[in-house]
Amino acid sequence: MTDSYDSIVVGAGHNGLVCAATLAKAGRKVLVVEASDQVGGAAVTREIAPGYKVSACAHILHLLHPKVIKDLKLKSHGLKLSSKNLPTVALGTDGEHLTLTGNKASGAISAADRAAYSSWRKQMLKFAKHLQPMLATVPPRLGSGDRGDLRKLAKLGWAVRSLGRNDMREFLRVGGMNVADLLEDTFESDLVRGAIAFDAVLGTHLGPRSPGTALTLLYRLAGKGGGTAGALTLPEGGMGAVTEALANAARAHGAEIRTGRPVRRVLVENDRAVGVELEDGAKIASQNVISNADPRRTFLDLLGPEHLDTGFVTQVRNIRMRGDAAKVNLALDGLPEFTGLDASDLKGRLVIAPDVNYVERAFNPAKYGKFSPEPVMEITIPSLHDASLAPEGKQVLSVVVQYAPYGLKEGWENGREAFAKIVLGVLERYAPKLGSRIVASELLTPFDIERQFRMTGGHWHHGELAFDQMLMLRPVPGAAQYAAPLDGLYLCGAGSHPGGGVMGAAGLNAANQVIQREAAA
Ligand SMILES: Cc1cc2nc3c(=O)[nH]c(=O)nc-3n(C[C@H](O)[C@H](O)[C@H](O)COP(=O)(O)OP(=O)(O)OC[C@H]3O[C@@H](n4cnc5c(N)ncnc54)[C@H](O)[C@@H]3O)c2cc1C
Repeated sequence: MTDSYDSIVVGAGHNGLVCAATLAKAGRKVLVVEASDQVGGAAVTREIAPGYKVSACAHILHLLHPKVIKDLKLKSHGLKLSSKNLPTVALGTDGEHLTLTGNKASGAISAADRAAYSSWRKQMLKFAKHLQPMLATVPPRLGSGDRGDLRKLAKLGWAVRSLGRNDMREFLRVGGMNVADLLEDTFESDLVRGAIAFDAVLGTHLGPRSPGTALTLLYRLAGKGGGTAGALTLPEGGMGAVTEALANAARAHGAEIRTGRPVRRVLVENDRAVGVELEDGAKIASQNVISNADPRRTFLDLLGPEHLDTGFVTQVRNIRMRGDAAKVNLALDGLPEFTGLDASDLKGRLVIAPDVNYVERAFNPAKYGKFSPEPVMEITIPSLHDASLAPEGKQVLSVVVQYAPYGLKEGWENGREAFAKIVLGVLERYAPKLGSRIVASELLTPFDIERQFRMTGGHWHHGELAFDQMLMLRPVPGAAQYAAPLDGLYLCGAGSHPGGGVMGAAGLNAANQVIQREAAA
């Protein structure tokens, strides 16, 4: 072994970078080794045609934890927003649409629903605010008897209790519901129900009638885009600019980042992780190894089941992590026209999910390994906010499409063309001449996402975000505090608490856990 470090972080996804920067800031000698030629993982900006730059996977920034922004001084390292508080424009099938901006709803919505939306959202944000502190906390161990764990458990309970009797009851009622029931109890207008149901299932293999979808909605609302609760923002320069800012912060604190260096395995000596071996055979020593790769890849491929308990290996194999979200990125020779929308509407986040049953029906085929013939979509045109993303007068359009199951029965090599046609067909129902504007395009199915970004199953969260895979059960009980059952090995990616989205909390918590455990050793 040539070099030696305090910590090696495997993967320069945003969580790996947050973890590396936090450890380096605390005085550790840190090396980040990334397989890809670019830092950022699924949060990157790429050119799909000369001059046309897109956020390859993640495109909307709304979860990045305020502590990460502040502690790592991301603004001084280049983080800028091109749009704050992006409105959601829910598209109806006949050109009518509904606009949701903060707590206000306008457009195709009844007067009763307009008032209901405002008070409902305030209530949801209040609940979500009580979940916020949990995001940047290492989950407690159950039954350990340790004072720190007991304190954290008490804090979790207090977060709910402090809502007061009525709100606490309502929180417990809502938290356990599926989002379809919740929306049907609250609203009468299809478009508002559809748009909110879409948010609850985005990035998951769940439909609005699946259990736990009111909770996934609260998780989403716990974010603070640009400092505003529940707000959506676009980063200037695309999502890659966020991870570039993180890499700048890590380097400024002394971390070293090597790209284009895939790790083959974690080196183990005397039941302890002691470094990594790269694909090119180089071995690098470290006191600990922190993996930004997903839990299945980390434990089964990089470490190897031979170093783990059989029961633990079974739990890892059983983590549900089959992605259902695809991405379509388009380079356009001009601004597309959407029926019924004016130029300012196009600056919003457009959602195709015209009612809650449409979303559920879109999900149905995915349960049986088929893609949806009527998929739901989230569309942004980031070049309208940031001219650096496309040549003058041209645009880029970025679409998340659900449902496109990872395990497509016919295989994605056979199904991708038909799916691409379906996506364009649905888009053209709302923007009739869109096809004629396309200069270049890319479709990333979960299968492509797995291969290109090394995310097992192409899953948005590195593992389904569901009751049985949250908090002290994430990714599995024996590794929920970021530390693996093998000394010196840690996790720091979206597969750990609190999950995915460009949030950085998993990376931050993992770094704090490493520091705390070292201090206690
Ligand atoms: C289609 C799609 C759209 C999305 N849209 C949004 C959105 O709009 N907003 C949002 O907030 N979130 C979005 N997400 C979710 C978000 O992108 C992820 O949750 C987040 O990027 C996970 O970050 P991470 O750092 O934990 O892991 P990753 O981004 O997956 O990074 C892990 C890194 O580890 C590296 N790695 C893996 N194995 C090795 C190895 N053996 N050697 C070296 N390096 C390795 C990988 O190359 C990668 O760079 C989207 C996800 C998808 C798939």
